[in-house]
Amino acid sequence: MTLTEKDSQYLWHPYTQHKTSQTPIAITRAEDALLWDENNKEYIDAIASWWVNPFGHSNKFIADAIYKQLTTLEHVLFGGFTHEPAVKVAEKLMEILPKNQQKIFFSDNGSTAVEVAIKVALQYFFNKNEKRTTIIAFENAFHGDTFAAMAASGISFYTQAFQGMFIDVVRIPVPVKGLEQASFEALENAIKNNNCAGFIFEPLVQGAAGMVMYEQEALAKLIQICKENNVLTIADEVMTGFGKTGKTFAMDYVSEEPDMICLSKALTGGTIPMAITTFTQDIFDAFYDDDINKALFHGHTFTANPTGCAAALASMDLLLTNQMQQNIQRINASHLSFQKKIENHPKVITARTLGVIFAVEIKSNSEESYYGSMRTKLYNFFIEKGVVLRPVGNIVYILPPYIMTNQQLQKVYTTIEEAIEMV
Ligand SMILES: *Cc1c(COP(=O)(O)O)cnc(C)c1O
Repeated sequence: MTLTEKDSQYLWHPYTQHKTSQTPIAITRAEDALLWDENNKEYIDAIASWWVNPFGHSNKFIADAIYKQLTTLEHVLFGGFTHEPAVKVAEKLMEILPKNQQKIFFSDNGSTAVEVAIKVALQYFFNKNEKRTTIIAFENAFHGDTFAAMAASGISFYTQAFQGMFIDVVRIPVPVKGLEQASFEALENAIKNNNCAGFIFEPLVQGAAGMVMYEQEALAKLIQICKENNVLTIADEVMTGFGKTGKTFAMDYVSEEPDMICLSKALTGGTIPMAITTFTQDIFDAFYDDDINKALFHGHTFTANPTGCAAALASMDLLLTNQMQQNIQRINASHLSFQKKIENHPKVITARTLGVIFAVEIKSNSEESYYGSMRTKLYNFFIEKGVVLRPVGNIVYILPPYIMTNQQLQKVYTTIEEAIEMV
């Protein structure tokens, strides 16, 4: 039996309708921006394997750090114990995060980073004897698949089976061009009509919605409104963090600082699952008490896993090198010229770029759904050409590893141009 035959016998894949989906491609090795399947066919990983892998696959520097940690202290429980890798990750993050972030809490993935932030927002007011139980989130947001994260998410594919079982969430429009005022007013109304504890948002770019972008001034205004009303703000930087937007964090563009930040995906350079939620001192203080009931009773067995911490430290070191920063600028410049080249194409609705993130919306005769027919046609075309891109409906986006070569980038662009002609 081949790998894919054995796979179909035993394995259940994420976001997959197994009856109608194609068999998965069995990848046997990877290096830098390239993947190879069991027949030795080569693919360019143009989405950094779901946005986690900025420094390239099978990265030696991170692998060495992981090996060293694995053979020194692979894991120790974090309840009642601590260790150097966790402390060093905290110190490093304090250097690069917005200045008001003072405490970090470890978990395992983007969803748990969000779950922790939402629970902390709710318990913050519980601890202060204030009844605030509603969370505000954007339309078409994506914050993950655990229950509170799912409640905050607004893409129906992920949440429809669970409607009616969620914590209270009020949804407001994303302040894309022309909708800024509507977004501000919706936020003010949400706060006026509900007992709002927190506002969670993907800063500047909504990833899973199809790389929907909005301006930093609008986000600053929304955060200001929350601050005036004592509503906690949660920046979900799970996708945008660690250089994707051209700055270390998307919040680095924004004049207002959030109360909490969620990190995962590129945190460990795509090697080991790990996540972090960061907090202001004020939030930590609301849990700091003689009363044990005011503590945060949340934790995961693998909290602050030292091997994951070692991977995170190596990743942050790589990110901050001049070489990597130049790579980010190089890809950004390259995207901008590609955008200029295709944005007036008759089949293109719009194209947009921020940092290494590029997206193009392709015209379609019918209403295109998230996993609709155009998406399948595009996806198959890209795979056949040896380029890994996962369109969202009629939106094709690129989020390459920062080390992708110019030649590889050009091949990705050319393939997208061919796809636009093909559909
Ligand atoms: C991917 C993502 C999540 C969820 O992360 P997982 O590791 O898949 O649980 C949450 N928020 C945003 C913005 C994401 O892009």
